[in-house]
Amino acid sequence: MKERATVEQIDAVVAHLIEMGFDIHRSKGESRTVIGAVGHGNGDTQLIAIQDGVHEVLRITEPYKLASRSFKPENTVVAIGDVLVGADEVIMMAGPCSAESEAQVEATAAAVKRAGAKVLRGGAFKPRSSPYSFQGLGEEGLIMLRAAADRHDLKLITEVMESSQIDVVERYADCMQVGARNMQNYSLLRDLGRARKPVLLKRGISATIEEWLLSAEYVLAGGNKNVILCERGIRTFESYTRNTLDISAIPVVQQLSHLPVVVDPSHGTGRRDKVAPMARAAVAAGADGLLIEVHNDPDHARSDGAQSLFPAQFERLMAELRVIAPAIGRSICVEPVARRGWSR
Ligand code: PEP
Ligand code: MN
Repeated sequence: MKERATVEQIDAVVAHLIEMGFDIHRSKGESRTVIGAVGHGNGDTQLIAIQDGVHEVLRITEPYKLASRSFKPENTVVAIGDVLVGADEVIMMAGPCSAESEAQVEATAAAVKRAGAKVLRGGAFKPRSSPYSFQGLGEEGLIMLRAAADRHDLKLITEVMESSQIDVVERYADCMQVGARNMQNYSLLRDLGRARKPVLLKRGISATIEEWLLSAEYVLAGGNKNVILCERGIRTFESYTRNTLDISAIPVVQQLSHLPVVVDPSHGTGRRDKVAPMARAAVAAGADGLLIEVHNDPDHARSDGAQSLFPAQFERLMAELRVIAPAIGRSICVEPVARRGWSR
């Protein structure tokens, strides 16, 4: 629509598009409103072009529509409670791979909070490659995670594996994670489109960026506009690292889409000593946040211990990121530095 299009003109265009059989998604930007018409409407769209207040009618050529920058030129900022992902600040999400016990969740939450994380991560429903591996504590784990997040004023992100878990996960979590193995679970994605909490969508282990954005489209098309993308490494011929972290996905996604993108260097490398270098690279490349596995006693973790940082390593990484983020015009949690006089 034109910059000065009136509400009546916008409503008239919307009504016309609905009459033609399209699903309508409005995006109100700073200067103008974009009306997304999705689906198989019929009729001559040139009739829309000559309506009052219309600036132009564009065909979005990408197969994903609502996720594309052509539909919404401004960056989307996703609010996890009062934590904004995609704004100026690089958001740190950290915690154990899985909730294992109250003591473990508490010790890890306290440590990541002290270092400057804003969101506690931790799985209660775990998608494990082997059916014999620890499958998570279920709702009991959610209760532990929620309590620790509240005690330390952290938001909580945790994984939802199937549609039947959405209600319970939404009751405890502030953001729902869709794991790499579930990126193409389209019925789950469709159901998350009707959920109220934001969704963090991991890239599938062999998914192209286009397939990943099409998965985001399922959630957006269902009406949930709060989607965060998460690059977590893809499977390649390289076997030294657990996965190959695709840092180039960050600028590519930022060009193709308005959605925020965060990086998980823990699953991306699978090796504790490689997590910090890739985390630094991700922030330098423009990631909106990081999702990192930290454990109070990683050598005895029930899942992903080898890639989990010791709390002291996470603190050190935070100190490094506080140097890198401002170099590219971003901020990162600085409060603990001031509080602890942490300039060494
Ligand atoms: C996790 O975050 O613990 C996890 C299982 O991640 P992914 O789905 O990326 O393997
Ligand atoms: Mn894990």
